[in-house]
Amino acid sequence: MAEGSASVSGEGLDVLLVDGALRPAKGGATFETLNPATEEVLGVAADGSAEDMDGAIAAARAAFDEGSWSSDPALRAHCLRQLRDALQAHGDELRALTTAEVGAPAFLTSGPQFDVPVADLSFAADLAESYDGWRVDLGEAAPMGIPSRRWVLREPAGVVGAITPWNFPHQINLAKLGPALAAGCTVVLKPAPDTPWCASALARIAAEETDLPPGVLNVVTSSDHSLGAQLSGDPRVDVVSFTGSTATGKAVMRNAAEHLTRVFLELGGKSAFVVLDDADVTAAASTAGFMVSTHAGQGCAITTRLVVPRARFDEVVDAAAATMAGLAAGDPTDPGTICGPLISARQRERVEGYLQLARDEGGTFACGGGRSERFDRGYFIDPTLVVGLDNSSRVAREEIFGPVLVVLPHDGDDDAVRIANDSPYGLSGSVFSADPERAWRVARAVRTGTMSVNGGIWYGADVPFGGYKQSGIGREMGVAGFEEYLETKAVAEGI
Ligand code: NAD
Repeated sequence: MAEGSASVSGEGLDVLLVDGALRPAKGGATFETLNPATEEVLGVAADGSAEDMDGAIAAARAAFDEGSWSSDPALRAHCLRQLRDALQAHGDELRALTTAEVGAPAFLTSGPQFDVPVADLSFAADLAESYDGWRVDLGEAAPMGIPSRRWVLREPAGVVGAITPWNFPHQINLAKLGPALAAGCTVVLKPAPDTPWCASALARIAAEETDLPPGVLNVVTSSDHSLGAQLSGDPRVDVVSFTGSTATGKAVMRNAAEHLTRVFLELGGKSAFVVLDDADVTAAASTAGFMVSTHAGQGCAITTRLVVPRARFDEVVDAAAATMAGLAAGDPTDPGTICGPLISARQRERVEGYLQLARDEGGTFACGGGRSERFDRGYFIDPTLVVGLDNSSRVAREEIFGPVLVVLPHDGDDDAVRIANDSPYGLSGSVFSADPERAWRVARAVRTGTMSVNGGIWYGADVPFGGYKQSGIGREMGVAGFEEYLETKAVAEGI
């Protein structure tokens, strides 16, 4: 049985951050947060109400309209660096908290689950000071015969409603509030009900250890999803920045349409890992098997369709199955664990539903196929390799969000691209070939927001991330991610 993280203390994490004050939810309401590896209750978080959300939006609006935040990039850079330093100073406790609440394998907390997004606040802080697009001189012209000098100004967009999921809470919370705050916006963060403490720890540190002015950052934890709908439909919000499932993204867009609020959406994926016939198939298959097992496959950009040359199908299946069988689900506190638990009983049911569907559709499992036998508690599913289905099956088309990889045969490069593109999603992808030119041709032809060629890693603070098709609208991170939080104003002066 997983040891869990008995040492994690939730002291002081049952609070909201509203208008600079750490305070309980209205009426003192709380809800439980669980350890998905042990099913134990870790403690309680503040259960924010519609009234709490209303107060947070009002505070963010006032801080934007009445304070100096939007016009003081030096203060913004200073506060973001303070936040980075303070989070780093609390690194040990926050890494343990992340493993306990998210079930994130410990090895990931020194990477994208904590250390990397915290360090990436430097990129946002630097941009606040160095961005060269604030005022661009277009020079003189005489439209309609009137001599004029023209400028393009970029201005902070206003109040940002940030709505986030549970799978990489620090990464996604910080990838939104870092650039939004750097751009001069104020923020209301509504995290997922499954991981409230990751957000309330951030709130406490921001309130107690930085000079962020009151109202600039507000955090409202809640068990109630409707607070997300409230935030995305409120006319005082200028930009809704959402990460989550495609179905919820569509609901967010519908709500935001009421007031024509701008939306930025990072949604689901069903990305293809394409192996060409000249590739080192063993290396490619092992990489694909490792990727889908990591954090139990709970990553939107994980490649979950392995598209391989028909003639080398069995060879690839054997190599991927060998890798995945060696990565059986394990205690996330163990530094050697790659595949931890799923986040909740609900998510485990969903994944098990897809495993049953794979059987019903005629598929078989080359490894895995259900709950881990090593644990009598916790939401563990072993890495599973599905064969015998084609790309029209639901298991190959729908996002499962578990450690499940479907292997699909292709008949050449064009066919591989056709299969990769035959998806409602377009978030990520990967291609392996001994010939970089062939790999690049595939990388260009796949309609997706990010591509890895021969194992290259595209993730980084300076790299825009986002999706084509139903994987989203807009880009997070990079300069493009910062500009999501800006408005554009053209000014012309008669001369
Ligand atoms: P979800 O869509 O159920 O919830 C995400 C957030 O939206 C939560 O905070 C939730 O409370 C809130 N929410 C729920 N209903 C809402 C509504 N009607 N209006 C506004 N907000 C609402 O997703 P989840 O289960 O937390 O996360 C898993 C999903 O997120 C997966 O589908 C995964 O692919 C996706 N995801 C995408 C990315 C990306 O960057 N593209 C990153 C991580 C996760």
